[in-house]
Amino acid sequence: MSVVTTHNPATGEELVSYEAHDAADIEQALADVHAASLVWRDTGLDARLRLLRRVGTLLTERRDRYAALITQEMGKPLAEALAEIDKCAWNCTVVADLAPQWLADHEIASGASRSWLSYEPVGAVFAVMPWNFPFWQVVRFACAALAAGNAALLKHSPDVTGCALALEELFADAEAPEGLFRALVVEAGDVPEVVRRVVEDPRIAAVTLTGSERAGASLAAVAGRALKKSVLELGGSDPFVVLADADVDAAATAAVKARFTNSGQSCVCAKRFIVHRDVADTFLARFLEGVAKLRVGDPTDAGTTVGPMARSDLRDSVVRQIERSVGQGARLLAGGRLVDRPGYFLQPAVLDGVLPGMAAFDEETFGPVAAVTRARDDDHAVELANATEFGLGASVWGTHEHALAVGRRIRSGALFVNAMVASDPRLPFGGTGRSGYGRELSAEGVREFTNVRTMVVA
Ligand code: NAP
Repeated sequence: MSVVTTHNPATGEELVSYEAHDAADIEQALADVHAASLVWRDTGLDARLRLLRRVGTLLTERRDRYAALITQEMGKPLAEALAEIDKCAWNCTVVADLAPQWLADHEIASGASRSWLSYEPVGAVFAVMPWNFPFWQVVRFACAALAAGNAALLKHSPDVTGCALALEELFADAEAPEGLFRALVVEAGDVPEVVRRVVEDPRIAAVTLTGSERAGASLAAVAGRALKKSVLELGGSDPFVVLADADVDAAATAAVKARFTNSGQSCVCAKRFIVHRDVADTFLARFLEGVAKLRVGDPTDAGTTVGPMARSDLRDSVVRQIERSVGQGARLLAGGRLVDRPGYFLQPAVLDGVLPGMAAFDEETFGPVAAVTRARDDDHAVELANATEFGLGASVWGTHEHALAVGRRIRSGALFVNAMVASDPRLPFGGTGRSGYGRELSAEGVREFTNVRTMVVA
């Protein structure tokens, strides 16, 4: 019997050991989601959306319990975990309110007596998800899939197995039909093989993955061979560009939040701070003041703003990125040291003088480390911002028209002017380049897993 054991990143202690699903369990789950998908596709949109409203209500009722579970399993401060649950509930409401519009027939004049697009379910969708927003990543996918009339099969990160099972229970308690939302518990060593078998199974119609490039490329290769559609939400190395005419205080305040939320473990965290040299010293001074006010500690304490990283190996790889960057000539101005207590804590780090070719510039830094790079002028800032194969979000600070003009020249899935990048259920979310393809959230996200069917009546 193989088991999956979760750990508390704030202490390193074991939490719970779960029995992993074996081949027979996985076969049963595939049969169940497939059967549920056939029922659900013929269930009216109103009934589907009533389910989402019940899910949203339960999330709100259980917010304390679910937030505590998130914090226990992956270490984010409790206030951030509560906000994650609240955002999930909000997403349920937004999808329930707007899906009738997003999924309505779309009339197109063609010379026929009537021609239109109809958004029809595809079947069961397989989702592979990461630990960093263990409820949000799943709920944003599931609301879209279920609203569109599909069923959902989840393979969550083993680090958040308690969350995965709580999510399965949540949908069941909201009276989802049997099998409509199922979670697989898979031991880490078995993941590639199980994922391959599930993706190739004819009862799975499409796949989605949020995670690293490595996992995304592996899943997409299997899906490609099986000729199944995939949506990939992968990593990022988002630029946060501060122009010479920016409100530097506001930019520096936002920069602290944009980088260190969730201990820096978010795909859309700002990672590379590209600052016009005329304002770089002022920005850096304000930014360092903000970083000094961060409180690293027990994520269940109300005063903590930065919890541990989710796993020791992830912390080690960020420490190595800092060390390599310093070896390549970057200056470590703050943090970067381990905290002398159990758990996987790392003092928020600020690197100055970061240049292309250094680890902190070229690689995704998935932890609490900010890389500051000085730009000579706007053209140089754009060149630096685009000097990455990623392309998820971009944040540009300056007077409105100026920042917008500069931002348009940066390649990304989203541009935020004078604001940090954040997802919103009403707006599509996704990347370009090695940050993946396809969109989640909003009309685009709901339609990703539909058959956009052309209908013509002569
Ligand atoms: P990860 O190691 O890629 O894991 C993500 C999921 O993929 C896990 O469930 C993992 O399972 C699974 N997986 C790993 N190898 C696989 C394979 N060969 N085939 C199929 N599935 C596989 O990523 P992570 O470290 O958990 O998350 C951090 C990454 O996710 C970062 O790069 C971050 O930027 C990205 N991310 C992107 C978004 C977005 O919306 N664009 C949001 C959040 C995070 P196991 O853990 O069992 O290996």
